[in-house]
Amino acid sequence: MIDLHTHTTYSDGTDSPLALVKKAASSGITVLGIADHDSTSGWSEASAALHGELQLALGAEVSCLTEDGVSVHMLGLLFDGENQPLQQLLSDSRDTRIPRMKKMIENLQSAGYEITLEDVHASTPQGATVGRPHLADALVARKIVKSRDEAFTDLLHNDSPFYVSHFAPTPEDSIRAIRAAGGVAVIAHPFASRRGQVLSAGSFQSLVEAGLNGIEVFHRDQSEDERAQLIAIADELNLVITGSSDYHGTGKLNKLGENTTTQAQWERLESMADQRRVVSR
Ligand code: AMP
Ligand code: ZN
Ligand code: FE
Ligand code: FE
Repeated sequence: MIDLHTHTTYSDGTDSPLALVKKAASSGITVLGIADHDSTSGWSEASAALHGELQLALGAEVSCLTEDGVSVHMLGLLFDGENQPLQQLLSDSRDTRIPRMKKMIENLQSAGYEITLEDVHASTPQGATVGRPHLADALVARKIVKSRDEAFTDLLHNDSPFYVSHFAPTPEDSIRAIRAAGGVAVIAHPFASRRGQVLSAGSFQSLVEAGLNGIEVFHRDQSEDERAQLIAIADELNLVITGSSDYHGTGKLNKLGENTTTQAQWERLESMADQRRVVSR
């Protein structure tokens, strides 16, 4: 079972890299992709925890914004973690998340919600990329909402009056940075319309020109119809098709391995990196 997109406590997942690797090995996962938001901080702990036959495809989920302001997530996998331009891009993105979080908190305070930056810090694990899920956890701790899910539905979704975006590269720039670092780029859940505005079918050509390798088709936030449209685009543009859980521990309902990538598609994707970077024991 190949699951190429999961999160740890180095972003908004609730399992440490060690706990996630253990869980993957005992769940029959053969290749586990770890892609924390805008960070590679969990790589070394995950690598050190490897045991048995499990292999790791280490990466990051890069937050992007199109010129039209559409939020896009780009999975970068199998890149050189020491590549400076890519690490700079990730750290720029992490840095702008802090003033963005302050603004979202101010918006909530103006509407009468009693929540502070300190509350969010208390809900954010050491070393994690701070994001809306940590704000959601702080709202739960303050008993303003009952769960992360309720926080997103009521207060934090992309079209909410409290929502603020943060600086992010364009999808094309992030693909170029991932490829220049030797990795492969797979666009994550591109048609997940229930999350907010999504890319148009016509935008994929420009992503391919920037070096896009694959499309995440099988993902719980994409309907049968959205998956069918993406398969047609992938076939037309000769892109790899992946499926993944986007597991976040207890932070989301997504179960590890609930969507997977076939061996054939994985082998094709892996061959597109500039060298063999899969980590095995
Ligand atoms: P941010 O990167 O700070 O804009 O936060 C986006 C993150 O929120 C993504 O990783 C999503 O997985 C997460 N997210 C979006 N909707 C929900 C939800 N309903 N429940 C829990 N997490 C969510
Ligand atoms: Zn997340
Ligand atoms: Fe995502
Ligand atoms: Fe994700």
